[in-house]
Amino acid sequence: MALPEHLDVVIVGAGLSGVGAAHRLRTECPDRSFALLEARAAMGGTWDLFRYPGIRSDSDMFTLGYPFRPWRGEKSIADGASILRYIQETARESGIDRHIHYRTKVVSADWSTRSARWTLTVERTGEDGGTERRTLTCDFLYSCAGYYDYERGHAPDFPGVELFRGQVVHPQFWPEDLAYEGKRVVVIGSGATAVTLVPSMARDAAHVTMLQRSPTWITPLRSRDKAADRLRAFLPENAAYRVIRTKNIMISTGIYQLCRRRPDTARRLLNKLAVRFLGDPDAVREHFTPSYDPWDQRLCAIPDADLFRTIRKGRASVVTDHIDTFVPEGIRLKTGRVLEADVVVTATGLRLLAFGGITPHVDGRAVDLSRQFVWRGAMLTGVPNFAVCVGYTNASWTLRADLTSRLVCKVLNHMKRHGYAAVEPHPDRELSARPLLDLASGYVRRSIDAFPRQGDRAPWKVRQNYPLDAATTLRTSLRSLRATPRSALREASEPVEARR
Ligand SMILES: Cc1cc2nc3c(=O)[nH]c(=O)nc-3n(C[C@H](O)[C@H](O)[C@H](O)COP(=O)(O)OP(=O)(O)OC[C@H]3O[C@@H](n4cnc5c(N)ncnc54)[C@H](O)[C@@H]3O)c2cc1C
Repeated sequence: MALPEHLDVVIVGAGLSGVGAAHRLRTECPDRSFALLEARAAMGGTWDLFRYPGIRSDSDMFTLGYPFRPWRGEKSIADGASILRYIQETARESGIDRHIHYRTKVVSADWSTRSARWTLTVERTGEDGGTERRTLTCDFLYSCAGYYDYERGHAPDFPGVELFRGQVVHPQFWPEDLAYEGKRVVVIGSGATAVTLVPSMARDAAHVTMLQRSPTWITPLRSRDKAADRLRAFLPENAAYRVIRTKNIMISTGIYQLCRRRPDTARRLLNKLAVRFLGDPDAVREHFTPSYDPWDQRLCAIPDADLFRTIRKGRASVVTDHIDTFVPEGIRLKTGRVLEADVVVTATGLRLLAFGGITPHVDGRAVDLSRQFVWRGAMLTGVPNFAVCVGYTNASWTLRADLTSRLVCKVLNHMKRHGYAAVEPHPDRELSARPLLDLASGYVRRSIDAFPRQGDRAPWKVRQNYPLDAATTLRTSLRSLRATPRSALREASEPVEARR
């Protein structure tokens, strides 16, 4: 598909957020031209990229789904393929798929104050793998590029790995033909990916060992929501969806608040659940009781307690220890024990990446992102006509992603109504800076300095609280945005004679 020379709005990325953003643009700003520029050859982002065994959501699909399109799947915790299908069907049904330019990676974005436009440089990859660079312009740039590096996962340098006789695999780049039936598998890590992989691989492997440096808080969750099934049986589809979403938002907000306000109670509850399914209080104490409080780092969900059940059946086990070195037959631990393995999966996490690796430039100067503040979790100081879509870390991503897309539409309509060529948020008082993400997880600590910061008060504070955001985001006054009227641009570009 040929790339237009100019568009009103460019959306970077055709994942869950980009497709949702395009839907909002079409319905709330129908007169704007737009396109989605997607680096990969397919839509779906995360849900197309990750192909490891058992890949699934760990938040419920009634809130991870779009508010404007009911989730019809049977399961509330759904597999990756069903989520991908849902995104594809949403894009197809509303014709959004016709606006996606695949294999089109945005590599730079330069804002010109004089023309109030972005010039984007894109790298297009042909079927034969050849690349060409092109430029196009747009009035507003909306980054829906996710939060991590698609090209590299986080892979620590393990000593001796080259000596290992087996295969080492990273979940982000799962080999389609990896055969692990009857083999001994070690999964390094205990985050969301590791707890998904272990029960899934244990079905066919000889044995799976989850090797963790330290424990993670884990909570069992029903994969099928029985209350939702009953509501869907007697309410019209859209009404049932709304009620189920509200129920799930309230439950997940309640759990989060309990963890933050009463960490001791939350610790006891999580321990009790683990003992119930694992049946071994000593194992729970040793392997499933972290030193940090629940939600200091992400709380991992396991559908129907599958991880605990698999361990109880003896098909998998957990080892809490540090790696000394890889050896030909497996991994030697600091305690001297050797874990023999044929396959090692390094579920060691993602590398965070801001705005799909695009460093915005303003009038030829690179913007130092780490010095900028985020307004309403969406727009940046120092970067006009730019927004970024980032979801919650403590609740389903889409809850905030969709609010942000609606806020972007409100800003676009505000600009049109008032004849503004450019807008940019600007604090009226000095802000004290805090990291953008309020999580102590390793993958956040490793890269958070490259991200913009949040402030200490609304609307500069990034709250992890959907009910509060839902009540306030779309009521935000846009008068505080610094605006450049279109007429001012015209005057500046006219010769002095003509202005007289
Ligand atoms: C394994 C895994 C499981 C997860 N499970 C959950 C869950 O259960 N619940 C939850 O709320 N969240 C979950 N998340 C977070 C998840 O990423 C979000 O739910 C959601 O999919 C993010 O969608 P997105 O469109 O914003 O980003 P992505 O899915 O990352 O899509 C971004 C798209 O932008 C494209 N892109 C990036 N840079 C550029 C560029 N420079 N030019 C052009 N295109 C570009 C990418 O190719 C990609 O297609 C999970 C994440 C992972 C990795």
